[in-house]
Amino acid sequence: MRKYIIAGNWKMQKDLSEAIQLVSELKSELANKTLNAEVVIAPPYISLEAISSLIKDSAIKLSAQNMHMADSGAFTGEVSAQMLKSVGCEYVILGHSERRTIFGESDDMINQKVKQAFANDLNPILCCGETLEERESGTTFNIIEGQIRAGLKDLDNSQIENTVIAYEPIWAIGTGKTASPEQAQEVHAFIRGLLSEIASKEVADNITIQYGGSVKPENAKELLSQPDIDGALVGGACLKADSFTGIITSV
Ligand code: PEP
Repeated sequence: MRKYIIAGNWKMQKDLSEAIQLVSELKSELANKTLNAEVVIAPPYISLEAISSLIKDSAIKLSAQNMHMADSGAFTGEVSAQMLKSVGCEYVILGHSERRTIFGESDDMINQKVKQAFANDLNPILCCGETLEERESGTTFNIIEGQIRAGLKDLDNSQIENTVIAYEPIWAIGTGKTASPEQAQEVHAFIRGLLSEIASKEVADNITIQYGGSVKPENAKELLSQPDIDGALVGGACLKADSFTGIITSV
């Protein structure tokens, strides 16, 4: 069954004590609320273990922001899927536009990471999205189709169903510009149709497709009420417990 997932990508923000403080506040904000969405947080690697203990008695789930595709080896500075699993991660964000553009990650690398996540019982949150230039030149659907086909290459239907797709137009990330609910819905419906072709109608109906790009409490309700928007991947607004809670409770 399709479920709503609200995930917070902290990026390179919050040291260990700030991370503990934010999660403690989030736990108290959420304590007496009925949640209609799964809540996922993705702090920096250095805080994962401490946060994992802190959220044990709560509904919050843990994600990493990236990982390497190999099991282990001479990859200075990298972290493996098995390491993430060992500190309690259930999700991993893969193919975020910042990884693609700043760190040069290709579709093929991202596909290897997605497969490695499944091999280690982690659920990937696979990001896709077009630049402003691509949108203005009318190639949005081609770009999204290419990223999704490549990211999901060689996966079986049950793995595809357990992948969370995050549609994040690059022009809306951290810019304060949000895609209108209609613009976002149009791409989400396209993605669901594509998944029906790649996998099956059942998989497409069940998969969670998040929207990301300047989501905040003020615009979350309208975005999340679109028929094909099943959650949000949140950057800036997840760094304060009250605004992240405002988004979570919009569902
Ligand atoms: C993101 O980076 O995934 C993101 C959506 O950021 P923001 O919410 O700040 O636009």
